[in-house]
Amino acid sequence: MALGRSTYWFGFLLPLVIGRDSAAQGFVYPVGNPNAQPNRNGLQPNGFVIFRDFNDDTNHSAVDLANGSEGGEVRAIGPGTVVIVEALLGEKQYGNVILIRHNLPEGTYYSLYAHLQMGSVIVSVGETVAAGQRIAAVDCTGRTSGVNLCASNGRTGPHLHFGIRRTQDLGCGTISARCTWDSMDNWVDPIRFIEDRRGLTATRMNDDFNSNQINLSKWFILSPPPGGASVNVVATGQRTEVSMGPGFGGGGLYSRCLLSGNFDIQVDFALPSWPVANNHSLRLGVSDLGVGPGGGFGLNRSSFAIERYSLSVANAAPVTPTSNLSGKMRLVRNSTVLSGFVLQSGVWVGIGSGNVPTGSTHVNLDLGAGGPNAPGGTRGAFDNFRVNSGTVNCP
Ligand SMILES: [Zn+2]
Repeated sequence: MALGRSTYWFGFLLPLVIGRDSAAQGFVYPVGNPNAQPNRNGLQPNGFVIFRDFNDDTNHSAVDLANGSEGGEVRAIGPGTVVIVEALLGEKQYGNVILIRHNLPEGTYYSLYAHLQMGSVIVSVGETVAAGQRIAAVDCTGRTSGVNLCASNGRTGPHLHFGIRRTQDLGCGTISARCTWDSMDNWVDPIRFIEDRRGLTATRMNDDFNSNQINLSKWFILSPPPGGASVNVVATGQRTEVSMGPGFGGGGLYSRCLLSGNFDIQVDFALPSWPVANNHSLRLGVSDLGVGPGGGFGLNRSSFAIERYSLSVANAAPVTPTSNLSGKMRLVRNSTVLSGFVLQSGVWVGIGSGNVPTGSTHVNLDLGAGGPNAPGGTRGAFDNFRVNSGTVNCP
């Protein structure tokens, strides 16, 4: 079997490509600007502010969104089916409330909209709704308290209580704010839920590895191919270390999230054990994009006849000699051009550029050797992985 240098386990990546590009799910925010995220600091750019957060110190199972006024449009956040329309007008209740079921590839979720204006609900149970479709208006029905007096009841503030429930056991918590035995585990952060489906959460991929545990919600652990070197991937010393015995193969981390569009990513690296001419490469990789003469696409710190950096792209593998045993590597894709950089004396220095496809890719942080005669005893470390820009879609 012919294994190109650094391509050692590329084939083994393919079965792991289970990520799904969810950017096209078309979700919008339920109030204000449908395409601008409400924030916690002010009214811009959505127009509504999060004045009470998800899972705050009172176990609030939703976010409360307000702009100081009654009557703002409330819209379905995504395609779904209306499953509950109720008027729960008691002192500690949701008031007028709508629940919409969303059957998504990753599972069924429900969006909940509460304290809706009297007479504003214009959908009924069983009705199919589209993302962005008006369903009601903001107000103060039921138990509300907030930023301004509400003209409709004279004492509380108009807001949308907006929640995302992830359990199919709807239970009392779905439609009653009084249901004190409902678990927070049945709910997810509704702003993050929409962010994820709009592909906005570039920072979701970031990892400083400070927990000394590999975060399996962010990473798969790459294993060597059969017959390959022994590989150990551990989080220790607030970074991730990959160590290898003799032989070919490799291992490391492979992101669960997909990166698309133009992107800019970086990682710190160190080589705590690095024998001379050890035939290994430590890589910041975007291997889903392809394999070139230098291996799976990405930026390598390699040890062959010379110690070097190299960028693997289509039909090229530009090389820069180095003696660095630690540093920062960075990859930038602009349209079809991938460029690699390393930080030298505080300045990003180019290692090279070349053509790559425009498709989505996972990110791999790995250590590997292409030849069966590679010695053991190599160990490389990654720290502070960061997405500076790019569109991220997480499963
Ligand atoms: Zn609330």
